[in-house]
Amino acid sequence: MSFKALVVRKDEDSGKTSAAVETLEMGDLPQAEVTVAVEYSTVNYKDGLCIGPGGGLVRKYPHVPGIDFAGTVETSDDARYKPGDKVVLTGWRVGEAHWGGYSQKARVKADWLVPLPEGLDTRQAMAVGTAGFTAMLAVMALEDHGLKPGHGPVLVTGAAGGVGSVATAILAKLGHEVAAVTGRPETEAYLRDLGATQIVPREEINETVKRPLESETWTGCVDAVGGAMLARVLGQMKYGASVAAVGLAGGAGLPATVVPFLLRGVNLLGIDSVMQPYDNRLRAWERIARDLPMTKLEAMVHPATLADLPGLGADILKGQVKGRVVVDVN
Ligand code: NDP
Repeated sequence: MSFKALVVRKDEDSGKTSAAVETLEMGDLPQAEVTVAVEYSTVNYKDGLCIGPGGGLVRKYPHVPGIDFAGTVETSDDARYKPGDKVVLTGWRVGEAHWGGYSQKARVKADWLVPLPEGLDTRQAMAVGTAGFTAMLAVMALEDHGLKPGHGPVLVTGAAGGVGSVATAILAKLGHEVAAVTGRPETEAYLRDLGATQIVPREEINETVKRPLESETWTGCVDAVGGAMLARVLGQMKYGASVAAVGLAGGAGLPATVVPFLLRGVNLLGIDSVMQPYDNRLRAWERIARDLPMTKLEAMVHPATLADLPGLGADILKGQVKGRVVVDVN
């Protein structure tokens, strides 16, 4: 019973890591309740770190990265799952602290799995992945804080990336005007096809805050970038509007003032996909199946194999991946 996986090994002398596809035995897998025959995985920013230098996320080598996977239950010691069930996993530090989805087999805790929602297959679930799941969480948080269509444009930063692409498609489907911020002008046709009505060049919005308040422009924002861009966006939000802070592709700092919070009642909402409680995970996956147009999702997909992962990991760290990579591990 052998299978293939992408294994990252660390050279103890140089401290350097290297990743290659290897053949493993079932006995190599960690102990846990559910064994899954993985069908698809994907590539997120964190995967880039875990395939490459580790970024402080990986605890032990050899390591199998892959923070997301979808597949079929093979064996289960937990009553909630039986062989043949289709499942999806995102988060819980799988692929970082635990072996992940860049493998034909994975063994994980039953608590970490979610049954595949009706209307999605395993490939589509990985076209969504953590990036798309997080985009949905962000949209849900904005809605919980009053976002409704028809009140002006919603800004999406890092729009051509994974989170941004899915957020753009969901918001457009829900009837919002979407303003997409991108540093890659060549992605304009792609973003408009996903439903963006306005393209905002990155340099227009990437400067340090000079005035704490600017014109009230955006009725909501899904922010994958952080840093100076998030600081600037806060001062451009309409009265009472909310920003869902998802990512730090542009930096972890926040060189902002508190003025937008105090004078315009702007809300900054933190979004974490990793430790989301189970009930909210179910809610988000059900909303994805309903509110993410599958034809738009398909337009974001780039197919890949296990052997492509070292190159893709490096690309995503450089901000060079467009949309969503779907890895067929078989
Ligand atoms: P991607 O690399 O696919 O997308 C990030 C996008 O941000 C890029 O495509 C680019 O968009 C833009 N960008 C990159 N560098 C810069 C920069 N220096 N300044 C401004 N914009 C930049 O990553 P993901 O979409 O998968 O993830 C986005 C962020 O969200 C990451 O920081 C990730 O760690 C975080 N994340 C957080 C999660 C959570 O639970 N909170 C879950 C998932 C992701 P463009 O080319 O259009 O400008």
